[in-house]
Amino acid sequence: MKFQKLHPHKDEYIASAIRRGNELSGLKHDRSKEVSAYKIQQPYKHTKTFPPKIQFPAYMVELGITLNVLQNHTLYPICAALGRTDSSNNYTPHRHWKICLICAIEDIEEFGTVIIRRQNTLVYAKACDKHGATLHEYCPACNKSITTHSILKFDSCTKKYKAQAGSLDSPKHRYAKFIKELLEYDEVHLTQTFTDSLIISMGSDIRFSESHPYLRCIELYINDSLDIPLPKTGALQNMGISRFSAHAFTIFQDASNYLKHLKDIQEKIRARYIVQEKTIMKSQL
Ligand SMILES: [Zn+2]
Ligand SMILES: [Zn+2]
Repeated sequence: MKFQKLHPHKDEYIASAIRRGNELSGLKHDRSKEVSAYKIQQPYKHTKTFPPKIQFPAYMVELGITLNVLQNHTLYPICAALGRTDSSNNYTPHRHWKICLICAIEDIEEFGTVIIRRQNTLVYAKACDKHGATLHEYCPACNKSITTHSILKFDSCTKKYKAQAGSLDSPKHRYAKFIKELLEYDEVHLTQTFTDSLIISMGSDIRFSESHPYLRCIELYINDSLDIPLPKTGALQNMGISRFSAHAFTIFQDASNYLKHLKDIQEKIRARYIVQEKTIMKSQL
């Protein structure tokens, strides 16, 4: 299967651009080959290399667009910001793609095509970050799942869409904005140990309830407000990017608040290192 050169729009998920390019050039749709064109292999959890060694598909390497795609057209930045860059977290999901009907209608008017946005591929993203409207995992016109829907066929499907106004500032909308803002993160990726401890130290300060440990309280809260199912186990170590991002959102509420705490702690650690180094230097005199 040949692939066409990419011209993704801002925030467009890489897989959406690949599918559109192929459909426009009349290439036959073969989903398994399409997935292999955008599936990025992440390092295993216990890999010692730092920064992690990420393996790009041959197709991207040939086009010389690997890092640009990783940063601008996958879920990598939010994984980097929340310490979830290992292989158990998928930067390029091939399920649970969703669309906002208002965005879809606007996209057709503005770009002549519907765009699958990367922020709407995170499992528990339920609202559009721009409109607050409910995201759809199935096309309301033809009932096909958005993950397997032809990009070109959205042209006729959107004509049947009845877009409903979203509820701005609802928890689902604020969580969507949190995801969108962390997708702008372009600094060094953090380790899971670091971000877990950040959540624990902040979360412990918040007294949700006397009768539940705070992790359970957050689970109950996100179940109720974000419609996220309760987990079988509640340990942070086993938490993937989808659930962990909901925890981080519950505790920090907005991305700038999270990034500010991150900076404060990093500066404290740096200051501690300088003191330690000075002490070592003095003892060596
Ligand atoms: Zn929208
Ligand atoms: Zn459809």
